[in-house]
Amino acid sequence: MPAFPEAAARATRDARLRANLRHATHTIRDKRARAVAELADWEQLRAAGKAIKDHTLRRLDHYLVQVEEAVTAAGGTVHWAADAEEANRIVTGLVRATGEREVVKVKSMATQEIGLNEALAAEGITAYETDLAELIVQLGDDRPSHILVPAIHRNRGEIRRIFAERMAAWGRPAPEVLTDAPAELAEAARLHLREKFLRAQVAVSGANFIVAETGTLVVVESEGNGRMCLTLPRTLISVVGIEKVVPTWRDLEVFLQLLPRSSTAERMNPYTSLWTGTTGGDGPSAFHLVLLDNGRTAALADEIGRQALRCIRCSACLNVCPVYERAGGHAYGSVYPGPIGAILTPQLHGTAGTVEASLPFASSLCGACYEVCPVAIDIPEVLVHLREQVVRRPGHRLERAAVAAAGYVLDRPALLAAAERALARSRRLHPRRLPGPGRAWTDTRDLPQVPAESFRDWWRRNRT
Ligand code: SF4
Repeated sequence: MPAFPEAAARATRDARLRANLRHATHTIRDKRARAVAELADWEQLRAAGKAIKDHTLRRLDHYLVQVEEAVTAAGGTVHWAADAEEANRIVTGLVRATGEREVVKVKSMATQEIGLNEALAAEGITAYETDLAELIVQLGDDRPSHILVPAIHRNRGEIRRIFAERMAAWGRPAPEVLTDAPAELAEAARLHLREKFLRAQVAVSGANFIVAETGTLVVVESEGNGRMCLTLPRTLISVVGIEKVVPTWRDLEVFLQLLPRSSTAERMNPYTSLWTGTTGGDGPSAFHLVLLDNGRTAALADEIGRQALRCIRCSACLNVCPVYERAGGHAYGSVYPGPIGAILTPQLHGTAGTVEASLPFASSLCGACYEVCPVAIDIPEVLVHLREQVVRRPGHRLERAAVAAAGYVLDRPALLAAAERALARSRRLHPRRLPGPGRAWTDTRDLPQVPAESFRDWWRRNRT
């Protein structure tokens, strides 16, 4: 993937993509604002969500052990995965042990983060996405571009074409006559997926939360595909980031109010599935929980950056972000797009890569993301913090030298006054555009003209 500026420049030239994104993000953000305004105590809920997450992250070692004990006592098996490779090895091993070559999947950011579908495919195992938007992405050989609505960059006409052309290669074909009416598209997906639900013996899921006191996993969703995956197959494997823990059911209550209103603008999401280990004769007979680190403990060690681990993946920050609205999710080159991706990806992967180093700059720092975040993550603060880390790396000598020179002059009033006078006298010779790496800045902006007289000199002349 190219760095963000290059990918974004390409995306912003796609007029249809911009129209799709503008329509979708504005619709969701307006609905969300109305849903949130219904609650008089929204700000208190938001503060409670932040406090619960901060408390849990401070004592994460304790709560993770509690999760392991509770899940094991309930008949499940807990696996610890330090990175993506280990998580993929564990999951492929578990699927192979069942003898199955197919799995059905509930939409899961964690499994996208580790590239599980590709790892399974390398072992000859096919993973079927069952969330409608994920199905569109999979059939279209595409990449998700939004946390909640992975196919937000597609319109109805494009979805109809993908279904008509690609469904047959993955199972039940689309009906011969298929229009782009939402009900017809949904019915085609329902029929296509139903045979997979009834056949699958293994399911892979993520989880929105894990309640530590009982080892209960929680998935919230809107389509019912999650409920099918979590109940019909014999084996259930859940891959969950270690930051998804909440201590108690009382704590879960807060997030089950914050999440639906922030994400889909619903008072309550249509399906909330909860499971604790296994229960004889009811649901999967084998349950595995893979607890995934993959850079999270490194993020936890960063005093400013760790607040990103409070994220409940509601996607509200994407829908209000002016940069996301124009560039779309693919430009971020990461599973996590938008403002949260700009702070999470560089923390999970480090800032050495070209894409990761460009992401903290993919923002105007307008602060809209912070205002809507239901767990009050100060995304602009983390962006600035990460920018500092990026420019401290080798390769940013010019910026560092410029800032050091500015610091030296600003620290010395006499030198500053002399510099101001020299600049004022030479103003006719100043270039209208910056040279070198600074050229990109003046490509779209006017370089401010130095005034003929500094304020300091004007003051001395007029007021003393
Ligand atoms: S950062 Fe906040 S607003 Fe953005 S997805 Fe996470 S919880 Fe939602």
